[in-house]
Amino acid sequence: MTAAPLLAPLALEHPGALAGPPVDWAAVRRLLVVRCDNLGDVLMTGPALRALRAAAPRATLDLLASPGGAAAAALLPEVDGLVVHSPAWQLAGPAVDPDPAEQDALVARLAAEGYDAAVVLTSFSQSPWPAAGVLRAAGVPVRAGLSKEFGGTGLTHWVPSPPDDLHQVDRMLHLLARVGVAPDGTDLRVRVPEGAPRQGGDYAVVLPGASCSSRRWSPDRWAEVCRGLRAAGLHVVVTGPGTERDLVGGIAAASGAEPLAGALDLAGLAALLDGAAVALTGNSGGMHLADALRTPLVVLFAGTELEQQYAPRTTTAAVLRRPTPCTPCRAFDCPYAQQCLDVDPAEVVSAGLQLRRQVQVEV
Ligand code: SF4
Repeated sequence: MTAAPLLAPLALEHPGALAGPPVDWAAVRRLLVVRCDNLGDVLMTGPALRALRAAAPRATLDLLASPGGAAAAALLPEVDGLVVHSPAWQLAGPAVDPDPAEQDALVARLAAEGYDAAVVLTSFSQSPWPAAGVLRAAGVPVRAGLSKEFGGTGLTHWVPSPPDDLHQVDRMLHLLARVGVAPDGTDLRVRVPEGAPRQGGDYAVVLPGASCSSRRWSPDRWAEVCRGLRAAGLHVVVTGPGTERDLVGGIAAASGAEPLAGALDLAGLAALLDGAAVALTGNSGGMHLADALRTPLVVLFAGTELEQQYAPRTTTAAVLRRPTPCTPCRAFDCPYAQQCLDVDPAEVVSAGLQLRRQVQVEV
């Protein structure tokens, strides 16, 4: 007796995947995009917002953002309105009992807005299901999101996740493509608001801060880089939010660079980066902003994340790091003396000077 031939494996999806009917995006009038995350993550939603704007041209497009990312909306021309909320499901750290009244208020607000479709955008490590439950409670009839796991009816259009190492921009576009929204380019774009103050001259911008210590390069090395750039004839501006005043001030004092901490809002920072010959950053929101502005960029990219998920993709960039077996660690604090960022400042200066673009100096 001969054995039955083995059947070729089929690419089967969970029966709950994409169970909802096709979405008529052109008929959507009130559209909500959920991206409760940091500034850089919101900036990376730009291509997805652009695709949705093209697919639903008659819709007003609102963004549900957390306080940390909401400011980016002012730079994204596709966004019509903003709902700012700090959801319990995004808070890291010790467990805190969320105030049920806050979530009830969010549900009521979303219900009152009358959205007829919502798209939940998440990183590879986040779940869309808590947001989906809120949207369902608010009566939003179309709710799309990506997840590895099936989560019931919170999403009407659950799309199984693509591979984790996909770039975050492509991950969002993958979701949209599966629900009938074609991409409209994959590059980041932002709009520098009119009237934002501009700085003249041939200058470099250094953004030494990052959201956690594991991603912040040594201030001493940053100061050495600033000295090297200045020695090559560049004016150097070191900047960051007011919370980084000590970091910025220390680097500037040690290098003769111009300190500019807490002096710029996001529009001002965008204008500053837009006119710079080169920007130098860590893996931070500033990196994504410079990328979207097409400012040449040198990145001290800590091994906390995989480069292919978050690296700049729009501008000319040098991404510097040392390979280590501990990457990607996702750590807020490094237990290994930041070996992944053991980069010689001379290498950083050299990369910056090679990428530096010619800036018209007004006389
Ligand atoms: S050295 Fe390793 S543990 Fe430390 S930040 Fe880099 S990748 Fe993470």
